[in-house]
Amino acid sequence: MPEADCIFCKVVSGAIPATVVKRDPHFVAFKDINAQAPTHLLVIPTEHITSLDQARDDAMLGRLLGFTRELARDVGIAERGYRVVVNTKADGGQTVHHLHLHVLGGRFMTWPPG
Ligand code: 5GP
Ligand code: ZN
Repeated sequence: MPEADCIFCKVVSGAIPATVVKRDPHFVAFKDINAQAPTHLLVIPTEHITSLDQARDDAMLGRLLGFTRELARDVGIAERGYRVVVNTKADGGQTVHHLHLHVLGGRFMTWPPG
């Protein structure tokens, strides 16, 4: 069920406009509004799941990663490489409480992150 106040549920429904680059019945990938790299996409399940910590379906998480791998190939960052980040709850820096994967590419990523 969508959550009434969740901005990513509104992206799924189309109530908030987003630049969607890939979608299937279970997952949507769209451009982050505040890009931190030449390619910065967010991948979300269409179902509202608050964070990775609340995810209960491990098979779905596997399909989410598979979708993300195909997405990276589709947008042309797979050959050089990319970073996938899942900020989780307060210490993880999560600000939108609908599970999402950041996919960052198009430049060299430094380590460690902040
Ligand atoms: P978090 O900090 O929760 O890991 O990441 C949330 C991300 O969502 C941020 O990178 C932020 O720029 C992005 N974001 C927040 N609101 C919107 C929005 O309305 N549209 C899009 N496309 N991205 C958003
Ligand atoms: Zn949601």
